[in-house]
Amino acid sequence: MAEIKVETVAKTFGTFAAVKGVTFTIDHGSFFVILGPSGCGKTTTLRMIAGLELPTAGRILLDGEDVTALPASARDIAFVFQLFALYPHMNVRQNIGFPLRCQNYARAEIRESVEEAARLLRIDHLLERRVGGLSGGDRQRVALGRAIVRRPKAFLMDEPLGALDSEFRRLMCGELRELHDRIDATTVYITHDQLEAMAMADRIAVMNQGRVEQIGTPQEIYDRPSSMFVADFIGAPPMSFLGVHASLQRGDRSITVDGVPIEMPEVYEDRAEGKFALGVRPENVSFADASLLRGRVIGAEYLGTTQIVTVITANGQVKARLPSGKAVRVGESVGLALRPDRLSLFDAMSGQALPSALYAGGHHG
Ligand code: ATP
Repeated sequence: MAEIKVETVAKTFGTFAAVKGVTFTIDHGSFFVILGPSGCGKTTTLRMIAGLELPTAGRILLDGEDVTALPASARDIAFVFQLFALYPHMNVRQNIGFPLRCQNYARAEIRESVEEAARLLRIDHLLERRVGGLSGGDRQRVALGRAIVRRPKAFLMDEPLGALDSEFRRLMCGELRELHDRIDATTVYITHDQLEAMAMADRIAVMNQGRVEQIGTPQEIYDRPSSMFVADFIGAPPMSFLGVHASLQRGDRSITVDGVPIEMPEVYEDRAEGKFALGVRPENVSFADASLLRGRVIGAEYLGTTQIVTVITANGQVKARLPSGKAVRVGESVGLALRPDRLSLFDAMSGQALPSALYAGGHHG
């Protein structure tokens, strides 16, 4: 187990800034996910933690020791690549034991470590099999076996499930998290898949264009996104935004949308006036006949137990997740009720959440 500290780390390639000063701490034994769209700097950040890339600025600490300038081989960290090449001419036992053989471990010790890793991964019955004939999931387990056999302080995983089909991905997500708990490891996991991140992480860092937008537990990030980018990136379908013009006084607790006062979760810290985006997730929108906030149904998507109903209002489109048994007609006029303790308010220009709309500690950390 290890604590990993990343302090204002930046990386430029020529004139291009791929990572622009990111800071976070990964606690001992936690499962930390770096989430973000393609090209946001996830892999570069992970490669710097691994020692495969030298930061242009900033420091990386492993258990308090500054390892910024140390090569990968001098850091007790295992990197699991997306397309982890197994040696096809070797069997499972030889593949898993390979890193130990390279380091000239004694035969008995290799045997014991390989069998322990295989037991943890529940592939001990496959040890004498050639890897060529294994299923995708089992090959992934062998690759993981090769990473855990050295018992490193931390595991770094770059989209390790990317090559698997969706059914296997779900299965392996559960297995990876379980494995992490069993071996008491510190894991840093990269993905662009928000569902994977939500399912596995203790904490998530959402990255965008080389910066960390927000760090928090999956629930903090889902309930209290610190920016419209995060609100839009997380959730399927994402948060809906209503454009509102409001004038807020310090201590205000409600805003007015089309003359309808809407109570917010927290009071505002500062005076603010202008255009805001009122964010609401589909499950926090319901139909309420008497509501003055009205719109017209423009579509409904059936999802089995629920349906996603899209309503167009004077302030923009809102999606509502309703029981699929509720009869909804395209074109009908409906009143909308928004669950007040789950609303977010963003500055429409900067896209940042108003400070008062965040839980203490739910912001950058
Ligand atoms: P993906 O999921 O697509 O791999 P990512 O979030 O992991 O995306 P990075 O691989 O870290 O993103 O890349 C961030 C940016 O830095 C990209 O625009 C990429 O083209 C650029 N980049 C990465 N490595 C280099 C390099 N060696 N030289 C020049 N540019 C690079």
